[in-house]
Amino acid sequence: MQVKKIRDFSPKKLESFIVELGEKPFRARQVCKWLYQKDAVSFDEMTDLSIETRGKIKSVFDIEPTLKIIEEQKSTDGTLKYLFELSDSNRIESVIIPEKKRLTLCISSQVGCALGCKFCLTGTVGKIRNLDTSEIIDQYLFISSKLPGPITNIVFMGMGEPLDNIERVIDTIEILTDKNAIGMSSKRITVSTSGLVSGINELGKRISVNLSISLNASNDNTRNEVMPINKKYPIRKLINSAVKYPLPGRKTLTFEYVLLKGVNDSVKNAHEVVELLKGINCKINLIPFNEAYPLPYNTPEMNRVYEFQKILENAKINAKIRKSRGRDILGACGQLAAKYPHKINSRNKEQSADI
Ligand code: SF4
Repeated sequence: MQVKKIRDFSPKKLESFIVELGEKPFRARQVCKWLYQKDAVSFDEMTDLSIETRGKIKSVFDIEPTLKIIEEQKSTDGTLKYLFELSDSNRIESVIIPEKKRLTLCISSQVGCALGCKFCLTGTVGKIRNLDTSEIIDQYLFISSKLPGPITNIVFMGMGEPLDNIERVIDTIEILTDKNAIGMSSKRITVSTSGLVSGINELGKRISVNLSISLNASNDNTRNEVMPINKKYPIRKLINSAVKYPLPGRKTLTFEYVLLKGVNDSVKNAHEVVELLKGINCKINLIPFNEAYPLPYNTPEMNRVYEFQKILENAKINAKIRKSRGRDILGACGQLAAKYPHKINSRNKEQSADI
């Protein structure tokens, strides 16, 4: 039997597999506690399992880490960026964003991205491959072991479109939320999507976490230009799907809007956003674009940004201006990893069926 990476398995899938090995289901819960609560790095540490059970597990599972740290950078605003190398030499990044009461981890779900958003460096790389569940959860495990305090929130907002790797993202969320594994509340987890409507619908049938929609334009013409996925799923279709998603907690949908000078930051654009979002329980984060070569956009004037915000607030839409954190270390999505030449190594050969 081919050896499998144990952290590729959600708690439920691990239980089924361990039962297939002839063991009782509760053994899977014991293994999960060792992996995610007691930070075991070898099966021999799992001393509440018999030597025979450990032997069976060792014969089919590998416990080794899937990531190697290549670079760690700290921004003047406290943001931490980690660049990891995978076993096939591809590279991904994760970011820690400290705020007053939160320590948020932004994790990657793919190497590169197929969506090709025109304001994003990761989009210029294209999709190289999906990350395995173990490669996603290992970002959390590695970084949480280095920090003095606990990670309070997780956002799937690093490299890649999480809903283009939905099975592994759901398995990762199940590891994060299962009481026998990491045990985090689903209210503290956010999936950010560029607008894969089929993925939003599928995620909603299977799991309830916070949803953030990367809107970035106020009409279809502009969105077709900056986010090609809009040609398949236009704005109204996207918003209709997002409002039906079963959100946890306060049931507030989040929209992200990167302001691109002279492209989507006019007064007219702000009024169009009001039309799109009126009546929806939501908040919108306005993010002045962080300039990065060779992307063809500029940072808007701040007075433009304030005016945009004012128009939304006057319409009773909760609009916050968010700085792109870690500007001095290339803080926007995908910028650190995209700075390095990628080894194009698409071992999974997985297609993006819906793009
Ligand atoms: S913004 Fe997100 S979805 Fe768009 S190309 Fe970049 S990583 Fe992909």
